[in-house]
Amino acid sequence: MASTHPRPHAVIIPYPAQGHINPMLQFAKLLHLHGFFITYVNSHYNHQRLLRSRGSESLQGLHDFRFESIPDGLPPSGDPDTTQDIPLLCLSTRDTCGPPLMDLVTKLNISGSHGSSVNPPVTCIIADNFMTFTLKVGEELGIPVLLFCTTSACGFMGYLHFFELIDRGYTPLKDESYLTNGYLKETSIEWIPGMKDMRLKDLPSFIRTTNRDDTMLNFDGGEAQNAYKAWGVIINTYHELEKDVIDAMKLMFPHLYTIGPLFRFVDQIKDEKIKSIGSNLWKEDMTCIDWLDKQEVGSVVYVNFGSITVMTGEQLEEFAWGLANSKHPFLWVIRPDLVAGEKDMLPEGFIRETKERGVMTSWCPQEQVLSHSSVGVFLTHSGWNSTLESICNGVPMICWPFFAEQPTNCRYVCREWGIGMEIDGNVRRDEVEGLVREMMEGEKGKEMRLKAKEWKEKSEIAFQHGGSSYESMNMLINDLLIG
Ligand code: UDP
Repeated sequence: MASTHPRPHAVIIPYPAQGHINPMLQFAKLLHLHGFFITYVNSHYNHQRLLRSRGSESLQGLHDFRFESIPDGLPPSGDPDTTQDIPLLCLSTRDTCGPPLMDLVTKLNISGSHGSSVNPPVTCIIADNFMTFTLKVGEELGIPVLLFCTTSACGFMGYLHFFELIDRGYTPLKDESYLTNGYLKETSIEWIPGMKDMRLKDLPSFIRTTNRDDTMLNFDGGEAQNAYKAWGVIINTYHELEKDVIDAMKLMFPHLYTIGPLFRFVDQIKDEKIKSIGSNLWKEDMTCIDWLDKQEVGSVVYVNFGSITVMTGEQLEEFAWGLANSKHPFLWVIRPDLVAGEKDMLPEGFIRETKERGVMTSWCPQEQVLSHSSVGVFLTHSGWNSTLESICNGVPMICWPFFAEQPTNCRYVCREWGIGMEIDGNVRRDEVEGLVREMMEGEKGKEMRLKAKEWKEKSEIAFQHGGSSYESMNMLINDLLIG
């Protein structure tokens, strides 16, 4: 990785979805803080969305923090948004993004390609671990590639064992009845390194298929195996949180860096211009913060299912009545496409009944919401960023995992860390009401709040001088500089 140029240059390329863009942008800011020249590569489509939602100045960056874009290979997106189709987007990026990335990096390495200001040659590519086509680009150009896991370590460990689960006969399932006949819940998996008390149900959801050729089973299994070919693996987690899995993973990957929670490090950035570069693909409604300011400490149920989850109209209605019947104040983020094909989704009676204590919006500044003292519990789909943001703000969770490694995160939240309760399977209003009441009023809720506070404190120690993530980040920077 030695370079004659004094300044290291990282090309950062996230998988083109919200939960990947956010932590990788935070990581890019951190590398910049450590003196790196940054080129951050979005898909054309997301680049345009960011320009629309944040204004063009937000992506102009600085002379040494640049934004570029490449096509995602999908036809122009409309309504419905094809980039929300995860299998389609995975195959499309895998099959089409390599050549444009190669052209971009080659162009960047031609001195003076940005008018009068010359960028240094690219010294490393940091790619999402679901974008492993980048390994070939790095190999051909002689540039080391590190993979960045935006998932939890436990989720990634699950993906790493997809092919072994196939070889051992756990998946594909014999037939559809195995999805509901107790097989997933009753089959325990004790042989995955660093993991205990796991059921098949707790592993990433793509094993729940009867088809050996299932796109996501093969895509995620294959991408995870490709990590062995990368120069290093970076995970947005902290050692204390996932100790057993991370220790097991260290034996599998000689260059493993656990540097989370990244959004904590970003607080250390002093350069306001860099700090303010945002990555939300939807426009944030800031008025919900004003509303939170008026609520009592720890009184609000915050409900948000992230950027990809979809549910049926019936499920939405069950959540609505569960929240209404709990009688607690709530802030509920309902993306316009949360319920496929439906516009006026919420029952009239629900809106009438909760208008004094409920606020709904389509996108919010989540990190700000979760750090707000009014929030008492987070009803979440257990996406890794949401989970980590909740943990690091000491907020316990009610988990309704949707897909991917969310069931694994949920298992860890509820069982390993003791800071959450699960809505199991199809949602019912009385279960939502009961869990909200238990969390806000009950003994279990009290215990979980205390535990959540402990995990928050541990996360703060991890990123302080001498803490596990702090040290791991230093090691990463050092390794990137000396190669
Ligand atoms: N997010 C946000 N506002 C919202 C919903 C989500 O800022 O209204 C952010 C959230 O803070 C997180 C990311 O979007 O960083 C969602 O990532 P996650 O891994 O939780 O779930 P995904 O969207 O990938 O399913």
